[in-house]
Amino acid sequence: MALMAQREFNVDKNASFSEWYNTVIYAADLVDVRYNVQGFVVHKPWSTRVLRKLYSLFEAELEKDGHEPVSFPVVIPKENIDKEAGHLEGFAPELFWVTKGGNNELARPLALRPTSETAFYQMYSLWVQGIGDLPLKYYQSCSVYRYEHETLPFLRGREFMFIETHTAFAERAEAAAQVAKDMVIARRVLEGGLGLALMQFVRPHWDTFPGAENTYANDVVMPDGKVNQIASTHMLGQHFSKPFDVSFEDASGEKKYTFNTCFGPGIWRVMAALIAVHGDNKGLIFTPVVAPVQVVIVPIFKAETRDAVLAYAVKARLALEKKGYRVALDDSDKSPGFKYNEWELKGVPMRLEIGGREAEAGNVTLVRRDTHEKTVVPLAVLPRAVARAGKALAKELAKRSKAELKARITKCKSIDAIGKALDGKGGFCRVNICSTGSEGTACGKLIQERTAGKVRGMLYGADEKASGKCVACGKPANEVVYVARQY
Ligand SMILES: [Zn+2]
Repeated sequence: MALMAQREFNVDKNASFSEWYNTVIYAADLVDVRYNVQGFVVHKPWSTRVLRKLYSLFEAELEKDGHEPVSFPVVIPKENIDKEAGHLEGFAPELFWVTKGGNNELARPLALRPTSETAFYQMYSLWVQGIGDLPLKYYQSCSVYRYEHETLPFLRGREFMFIETHTAFAERAEAAAQVAKDMVIARRVLEGGLGLALMQFVRPHWDTFPGAENTYANDVVMPDGKVNQIASTHMLGQHFSKPFDVSFEDASGEKKYTFNTCFGPGIWRVMAALIAVHGDNKGLIFTPVVAPVQVVIVPIFKAETRDAVLAYAVKARLALEKKGYRVALDDSDKSPGFKYNEWELKGVPMRLEIGGREAEAGNVTLVRRDTHEKTVVPLAVLPRAVARAGKALAKELAKRSKAELKARITKCKSIDAIGKALDGKGGFCRVNICSTGSEGTACGKLIQERTAGKVRGMLYGADEKASGKCVACGKPANEVVYVARQY
């Protein structure tokens, strides 16, 4: 494995998060943006391995929930995109178009998928012939294309990785139940598996996904106080099934349109959150579940102890590999201190230090990446000690993320207070508002204009009771919403 710190890493994350992020993604060899098209990023092996793990975590959950994988074409003809007016309006400014094939102008332009509703429903109209074809639950893991103006690796790209599910049901209640399951899956993977503390929202009506009736989102707060929406799910109702004619005849012979949902775990954005939320001034910290290397072994030797130490280090590696751990043995000629820094920068969760003394006594020194806590462990119980340390690390990262999120929620009673809080520690402002329905649109817009924040929505599944007055219009408040600046 090539280990090259491409830039010196010496940036204080708390002092300048943006500089830290922009340095660590290169220093840890995650990406190279020198490819000569803006917003199209080359992913190096270290990030590619993590991204594959992230895909597989979500794919496993989706398949457990009855979704099956498919792979759709990257191009969507213009006539499909034109079919749903809200969707078209939302995505038109971001579309890339293929207009030529060789020297010929194409008779009809083809868009690179910005998301694939209009590709899937074209086919669902053929595949759904009767109620026996329902429910239909497919997903694809792919990259999508959007003409973004400002780009930043893992947060905003012209090409980025995500998963999209597209479902069709006979009944509205089934579609609603799917949306609820999507939210459970998001929480299980992101919070349970990856230790990212989430805020789950029902988005206000003026800010739903183009073509959706309702949008539900999972937000993570980044260290600079701005939020990163990392997975959203949408109740599409019959917005797509009607124009695409995804329909069936019920028992009485009446034509019925399906109810549809789609769920989009943003694999790229989950990566951004992992980097940003868990990383520290020494670099990245990956939890064992996604770390490309879970344990690195650093042998410490002089010329005369070299053979014995290396032989012992191999024994330790084999003991862990036998239990399924991903292990690297760094026997390069660099100094131990240099190796510690380099592997810490890359976020390997655990390190074994093995010197002559350890080899002789049959021990290893186990060091955690998050706390730098050192434990001397007999080789015989090493796999168990590594399992325990890995679990403790994951728990510690989750705890830190939770505490960080909690500290970034501020109750605000006026628009000025929102602006002040967002200028200060950022995060979420909890405010009372008259409505998140269409009648509250003007209030939502006013808050957004005056604070540069966005109304993220009502807390999902919490049923918080509003009190007092709407911060925007002063009328009695009926809903509690959260406002934040976003990526
Ligand atoms: Zn109001």
